[in-house]
Amino acid sequence: MLLTCPQCKTVFRIDNTALAPEGQQVRCSVCAHIWGVSAPSASFQAERSDLNDILRKLRLPAAILLLVMFISGALFSFRGPLTAHFPSLISSFNGMGLAIEPDLQVLEIRNLQASYQGKLLRVRGQIYNADSFTAHAAPLQLRVIAEDKTLLASERLTPDHKFIPAGGVTEFFVQKEINMDTNAEVRVDLLPESLLLELF
Ligand SMILES: [Zn+2]
Repeated sequence: MLLTCPQCKTVFRIDNTALAPEGQQVRCSVCAHIWGVSAPSASFQAERSDLNDILRKLRLPAAILLLVMFISGALFSFRGPLTAHFPSLISSFNGMGLAIEPDLQVLEIRNLQASYQGKLLRVRGQIYNADSFTAHAAPLQLRVIAEDKTLLASERLTPDHKFIPAGGVTEFFVQKEINMDTNAEVRVDLLPESLLLELF
């Protein structure tokens, strides 16, 4: 421990064990001042060594914990592409309470075409995967909205494939009988639905 002489402010480093446990008088070797010093308490020293023990014991489990957190973090982040490659893992992720959701950031609807002839509306298009990994295809929501904003039809569509290769597409097509004006808006949106419930 360090002792500072209250008179000349000289700092001395002394061995804790050199002090009597109940404290004692010390004499400054520089200015000869004498003052009382209490020894650092035994409990304080015990606490410190306990803490050191705890830290030493914690070091390995903490490293393992960090590793597990890192791996599960990576698994968490990559569970989309991973389960697209290995669909059998979906149930494992679901078992961990992690839903697999299509990553709408990497999916886009392309070549959307709609035709309306003889009361039959036909809608076709593609879902494109812009990612460099296989992606889960997302279900789609078809909506037909009249000019006065009336919702004429709303229907869930399922694309042809569950998975889309990197840079690839999957097709979708729907045909339904409907009374609509040719000015009606036909919308198709990707649904961010969890594959936990929607293994289409
Ligand atoms: Zn002194």
